[in-house]
Amino acid sequence: MSFELSQRLSALPPYLFKELDRLRDEARARGADIIDLGVGDPDRPTPPPIIAALKEAADDPANHQYPLYSGMDAFREGVARWYQRRHGVQLKATTEICSLIGSKEGIAHFPLAFVNPGDVVLVPEPAYPVYNSGTLFAGGVPYFLPLREANGFLPDFRSVDEPVLKKAKIIWVNYPNNPTGATATVEFYADLLDWARKWNIIVASDAAYSEMTYDGRPHPSILELPGGREQAIEFHSLSKTYNMTGWRLGWAAGNESLVRGLGQVKNNTDSGVFQAVQAAGLAALEGDQEPVRAMGRLYSQRRAVLSRGLTAAGLSIFPGTATFYVWVKVPTGLKSADFSARLLNEAGVVATPGNGFGPSGEGYARFALVQEVDRLNEAANRLAGLKF
Ligand SMILES: *Cc1c(COP(=O)(O)O)cnc(C)c1O
Repeated sequence: MSFELSQRLSALPPYLFKELDRLRDEARARGADIIDLGVGDPDRPTPPPIIAALKEAADDPANHQYPLYSGMDAFREGVARWYQRRHGVQLKATTEICSLIGSKEGIAHFPLAFVNPGDVVLVPEPAYPVYNSGTLFAGGVPYFLPLREANGFLPDFRSVDEPVLKKAKIIWVNYPNNPTGATATVEFYADLLDWARKWNIIVASDAAYSEMTYDGRPHPSILELPGGREQAIEFHSLSKTYNMTGWRLGWAAGNESLVRGLGQVKNNTDSGVFQAVQAAGLAALEGDQEPVRAMGRLYSQRRAVLSRGLTAAGLSIFPGTATFYVWVKVPTGLKSADFSARLLNEAGVVATPGNGFGPSGEGYARFALVQEVDRLNEAANRLAGLKF
């Protein structure tokens, strides 16, 4: 007996990597040495001081009861200080910041607060799939904005027609960008805010990779721009910066009514984040940031090692300056999926086909730098031996 799925689940795009996953699992089962650069999940452990803070907070009975869905005051005050330090923005901890069970949770829930059935949500592609699924769950209609290399993988929001804009409630942007590694400038955000204000569109900015820049300087936050706190909400995550994907901690910050609306959805669906995890998150934000800088140096070393192999194979790499992804153009005439299948079969290297992030990702592949340098060296050597 199998029950029929709801229309909302059936409307989600199909999972495109079944075949590739099968090939990978088969190769592994045969005993092949597979170097998996597929999933964007940091391989290194969480820095020890953060784990120590969790252990201490876990012993405190005050942390054993229901947390506030919106987050502990101490955590939100820590986030407010972080904005002040990193971006020179002064936010009110209790009204402009909300903790999240990982930013994915907030991104998925946010449209439920502001989108009515039939409303349009402007969704970039290629992109993290949750902007689309959250829109569909809320009964919204995604309108896709292709990100093109010629445009630095920034959306051309000014090309959207008036009838669409009149129905549009939210535009999603994500810089530093997954999957391309592209970054945005304050000028881009200023232009986006001007346009969004004119059309009364909420700017939802996913800043999960804001700390993962090659030069170690913070990527601009849309909240630091004039009008940012009026028109925008920013989604943040501790997952990538502090190797904490398993801990489930992030936050949303920005316009008070946007944060409140999201909080209202959360108040009716979850009961917040275990306070000991929030205490550890606070320790992460306020502790020595040297581990973050060290990871940054490590990722650029890894990138250089992998790039050597990619270049030797004749592949061209998008010169992004952030994230731990390498976005590569597949050889002319090859589809992304065929390229990834060949890498797997001929080199034992797993890379994600770009079309899995949206149709404009066709012709590209994403490599996540989530293996140690010696393994990436091995991957580079194998790639260098390929002929396309
Ligand atoms: C990894 C990632 C997130 C963060 O997810 P968490 O739920 O905070 O772990 C958000 N957005 C993008 C684009 C990501 O790649």
